[in-house]
Amino acid sequence: MSVLVFAMAAGLWFLGKRMGTPPQARFLMLALLYVAVLFVTVALPEGNPIREGLGGPGQWIILGVGVALVVAYRRVWSRVRDRARAVEAERAQVESPQEGPFSEGELNRYARHIALREIGGPGQRRLKEAKVLVVGAGGLGSPALLYLGAAGVGTIGVIDDDVVSASNLQRQVIHPTDRKGEPKVHSAAETLGALNPHVEVRTYNRRLEPDMAAALVEDYDLVLDGCDDWATREAVNRACVATGVPLVSGAITQWEGQVTLYDPARGAPCLTCLFPKAPAPGMAPTCAEAGVVGALPGVIGSVMALEAIKEVAGAGRGLRGRLMLWDGLDAEVRTVGVARRADCPVCGAVAGGGGAAA
Ligand SMILES: [Zn+2]
Repeated sequence: MSVLVFAMAAGLWFLGKRMGTPPQARFLMLALLYVAVLFVTVALPEGNPIREGLGGPGQWIILGVGVALVVAYRRVWSRVRDRARAVEAERAQVESPQEGPFSEGELNRYARHIALREIGGPGQRRLKEAKVLVVGAGGLGSPALLYLGAAGVGTIGVIDDDVVSASNLQRQVIHPTDRKGEPKVHSAAETLGALNPHVEVRTYNRRLEPDMAAALVEDYDLVLDGCDDWATREAVNRACVATGVPLVSGAITQWEGQVTLYDPARGAPCLTCLFPKAPAPGMAPTCAEAGVVGALPGVIGSVMALEAIKEVAGAGRGLRGRLMLWDGLDAEVRTVGVARRADCPVCGAVAGGGGAAA
């Protein structure tokens, strides 16, 4: 009789299979058959020939429990395996090729950037592919270079014709004491190399002159200007306007600093729109003449680096058309709107929004 039940079960299974019944439905039919057999063995009185033929409820219960255990084990096992596969796929997605050309060491180094929604893997990749030129390796250039290097900007150019002197050390934190007398660009490159070996540093140990500025700037995606010389600032501005390269510009004196992003090609003003004439002699004293508090270039240079990182990674709202004014003595920060001038002698003829842009 038991043999008959198993034959029925096999018949149901293979007939269902031939008819294209889904496995779940066939399992359900077998389960119904099992319940029916169990019901018959329990419900019929002892001595009944059908009950005797089926062998009593005991062995059927053991069979049922056994099958249930096997099914449960397979379910749990396949769930564990699916979970493991999902974790493996997730890890593969994080490590490659989504994050691009990063080594294990770089992924660890930039983990806090990659965790930021606004930067993430794609933003970090843009930083690695970016070329940023820093004009001046002094007070503003020092923190700007350090943070750009640490952030993983792939190619950093630095141009300066000065050497490290004792009076620089109070604020130009990229240069240690034992580099006095060395060219600033070489000292900066050495510090950056120790800070982040994944960054390529290009040094130009010379003054940025108007006749070579555009050819130099052309090689870069973004320029940061923190020099303290008006003629150089004007040359950098003209070169950036001519090549359409955005310019993060910072300036400091004594306790006050300012930062903006000049970019007439995209509607923002250029340096000459805001400051049409060179300051009168004595009106803009240099740090050497007027003094400067050491942490101030740290603040303004870091803001320049931050704006550069945002610009490259495409994060947040930059300082295009806005000028940030920092008063260190009063601990106050203000941001004012600035606009292009249609009659600007430098960018007036450049497309990108004209004088109406703010
Ligand atoms: Zn202009």
